[in-house]
Amino acid sequence: MFKSVLLMGHLHGIRIELHISWLIIFVLFLFGMTTGLLQQFPDWPLGVAVATALLTVLVFFASILAHELGHSLVAIRRGIPVHAITLFIFGGVAQMGGDSQRPNDEFWIAIAGPLVSLGLAAGFGLLGLVTAGLYEPLTVALGWLALINLVVAVFNLIPGFPLDGGRVFRALIWKITGDARKGMRAAVAGGRLVAYALFMLALLNILLLGNVIGGLWMTLIAWFLLNMAEGQGRAFDMQHRLSGVRARDLANPDIPRVAPDRTLHDWIQSQVLPTGRRACLVGDGDTPLGLISLSDARRIPQEQWSQVRVDEVMTGLDRLVQVDADTGAHAVLQLMSQQDLNQVPVTDGGRVIGWIDRQQLLRSIELHMEIR
Ligand SMILES: [Zn+2]
Repeated sequence: MFKSVLLMGHLHGIRIELHISWLIIFVLFLFGMTTGLLQQFPDWPLGVAVATALLTVLVFFASILAHELGHSLVAIRRGIPVHAITLFIFGGVAQMGGDSQRPNDEFWIAIAGPLVSLGLAAGFGLLGLVTAGLYEPLTVALGWLALINLVVAVFNLIPGFPLDGGRVFRALIWKITGDARKGMRAAVAGGRLVAYALFMLALLNILLLGNVIGGLWMTLIAWFLLNMAEGQGRAFDMQHRLSGVRARDLANPDIPRVAPDRTLHDWIQSQVLPTGRRACLVGDGDTPLGLISLSDARRIPQEQWSQVRVDEVMTGLDRLVQVDADTGAHAVLQLMSQQDLNQVPVTDGGRVIGWIDRQQLLRSIELHMEIR
């Protein structure tokens, strides 16, 4: 989902990433806050205003990280792996390796983030009260941090997907009706409403208040929310309709194979170009030696293709990703997109029984969904 990220480090085994779009919001916040402080406190030296703004904005982004860590740690404790937390232009997102299987899990994972933000708001507020009068910039910074964390908590509790409140709403409907799909439909509908309301607010902001920048910003957020809500609704629908479809149902039994001692030139001329299949198992028996793909071949200069054997450049069995025949279709899709695989062999009891190709997989998934 996210490209162009900077790795910040690891926390509890979770990758912490900064998307480059985050830099935009960082600069906007820093600039907006510095000018705001200078207007409000004209007696502050420029250095004090900049330093206060910089520290406050950094602590604010740490608060967003803490909010996402809240979701993530509860998810991990409930058995859902979290690969990464990414900070980007609209805030933060925790990339989880699966969906909640129970409404209770969904509820606690979703509510954990806003609870962390509420806790931070209370903490900063309290600290502001205790240290009041000590140093004006500190009091201002703590007050702003308390307020912004409160805003983050409240905004996220609005009951529309993809906001946390949407997930809480989904969990409640799911719990009451016992039907995960009803919960999802309600949360997606809520998400649409939130996005449309935000569009309206943006329009009013521009037309009545003349606040063009703020209005455009809200339009962008509304557009983002709408896209996410629709996208997650569709993904959930597909996952539901695909439940029961296994890798064995999608596997093509016609497995392309090549003998290990053939040259790259030979393989490409006799198998790749005539069939359009970009990859192939190496070896003749039931257990392959590895997999050769066009991208493996491309690492070798073309003038050497007639001297190099396929088993010299193939992906060996130790690094080869294979899926078991009983793996669910959705898990196969996820695996292929996460690891950027174009093809995987399907095995049953250690024997390769078929072959899944990404392009063909999407077509057979469409067929499965159509026939159901
Ligand atoms: Zn959240």
